[in-house]
Amino acid sequence: MSELRLMAVHAHPDDESSKGAATMAKYADAGARVMVVTLTGGERGDILNPAMDIPEVHGRMAEIRRDEMARAAEILGVEHRWLGFVDSGLPEGDPLPPLPDGCFALAPLEESTEALVRVIREFRPHVMTTYDETGGYPHPDHIRCHEVSVAAYEAAGDYLRYPDAGEPWNVSKLYYIHGFLRDRMQTLQDEFAKHGLEGPFAKWLEHWNPDRDIFAKRVTTRVECAKYFPQRDDALRAHATQIDPNSFFFAAPLEWQERLWPTEEFELARSRIPVTLPETDLFEGVEVDR
Ligand SMILES: [Zn+2]
Repeated sequence: MSELRLMAVHAHPDDESSKGAATMAKYADAGARVMVVTLTGGERGDILNPAMDIPEVHGRMAEIRRDEMARAAEILGVEHRWLGFVDSGLPEGDPLPPLPDGCFALAPLEESTEALVRVIREFRPHVMTTYDETGGYPHPDHIRCHEVSVAAYEAAGDYLRYPDAGEPWNVSKLYYIHGFLRDRMQTLQDEFAKHGLEGPFAKWLEHWNPDRDIFAKRVTTRVECAKYFPQRDDALRAHATQIDPNSFFFAAPLEWQERLWPTEEFELARSRIPVTLPETDLFEGVEVDR
């Protein structure tokens, strides 16, 4: 049987629904096997939806986030695995407090890499996605997600590394997800202005860090996936404790997004197969018969 397999590695439950989700839904719908691997349980996530900030939710976050994740995976049509590490939390304050004992970002890289290698060798993805070296957003778990993914991409095919973690498997391509692009935000913000509306992105654009513009230039691959934006939004809303349904995520009408920015963006970071850039398909060049 030939089948295409895509593995998306994410730091917390909900990250899969806000980064590259429509692309995953598209490939799943096309018959590929898609697996989301979530490195941590999201135990230290704040309740970001006022409607969920109720006594029934407090103290049950780990359990609730498992249910939310299961629902999101079902909506996207993907398989899902927990890697079982503990959320490091987003340190806040000046100076920043130390990371909590036992958290994912402090786990030895060898340990977390082996855990991911084990799942890679079992699922045998042709393509993997993860975050760029900045984590896409400065959460210690996101930066660690990048480090672990790159290390596991390198190690999974090497029979000398982690010999007890399954049969070696070479992943063909590794991508970074680049969804947080100034151009996209500006395009949607301009559409709000055209309709005489204020638009939710003014503050983001005003405080935009120009260092991030480099990532737009690094995009190699644009996947057309507008048809799956409603699924992406439903999956995100399934993470009810994490997402305020009134947040800017959902502010731009889907029709505008579908018309003005119908793609998700990726950067081909590593490849073991010949490629021609730019691409429109993460599986471009992948042999299906293995
Ligand atoms: Zn996250």
